[in-house]
Amino acid sequence: MRVNYHIHNQYSSDGRGSTAEVCEVAAELGFEEICFTNHAEALSPAGDDWILDLVEARQRYEQLQHEIERLQPEYPELRILLGAEYEYRPEWVETLDALTDSVDFDLIIGSVHVVDGEQISGGAVSNYFKTRDASEAYGRYFETVEEMLEWGGFDVVAHLDMAKRFGVKYYGPFDAKPFESQLGGLLEKMVSKGLGLEVNTSGVVQTPAEPYPSLGILKLAREAHVATVTIGTDSHVPTSFEQGWDVGEQMLQRAGFSEITLFSHRIRKSVPLITEPEEGE
Ligand SMILES: [Zn+2]
Ligand SMILES: [Zn+2]
Repeated sequence: MRVNYHIHNQYSSDGRGSTAEVCEVAAELGFEEICFTNHAEALSPAGDDWILDLVEARQRYEQLQHEIERLQPEYPELRILLGAEYEYRPEWVETLDALTDSVDFDLIIGSVHVVDGEQISGGAVSNYFKTRDASEAYGRYFETVEEMLEWGGFDVVAHLDMAKRFGVKYYGPFDAKPFESQLGGLLEKMVSKGLGLEVNTSGVVQTPAEPYPSLGILKLAREAHVATVTIGTDSHVPTSFEQGWDVGEQMLQRAGFSEITLFSHRIRKSVPLITEPEEGE
């Protein structure tokens, strides 16, 4: 099923493209469901820091919600959903929970981009990796993901091994093996808390040249009985809407997943990953 559950547009500080432009591209490419997952936090006016403000964020999501309501009738073959990408930072949890209570989201994805106060996936990432070896850099990242799972104020974990995006530049290709027991713990916690896993295909066009997470981790997720799985391209401009999507879909199949999860008002439903052609076609 052609679903893209991780998209940013002009309502993310780091995104571009109007809501109409994104819907048009999605419809042209034959997508059946898309979910806008703009960042809750916004870049400071100076552009050097991220700020989370409840009132500002709520207004931004409501504006997008109105645009979706206006556009939906024009696209009868495309379901357009309102989601959010929440950045886990201990000091933001309370505001994020309040945001969840005040906006009617279809899906919330949870992310870690900052570990011990340092950026790991954008901006000045070099400090984090330069001052740590691979074991510490990935280990601390996964520990922070575990803290996020403890909080659990979202539906699906975004880009589970995101630290490899820049980690591969410092340590070479990412190998999940040394972190298997830590990852096993994470996946177990996800299952016990009812949280899902995302296959994020932006990694296909970035340095790792493979989705987040890697096939090995996806297989571990399957063994751990993670039942909620989504797919998204994490596109920030309409021209990259479909980036890596086919690779992600194939990887889900290779890992043994035959279903994908759809969301509506944060209620989930599993559907076949591959839709069989109808009789007589
Ligand atoms: Zn992200
Ligand atoms: Zn994103």
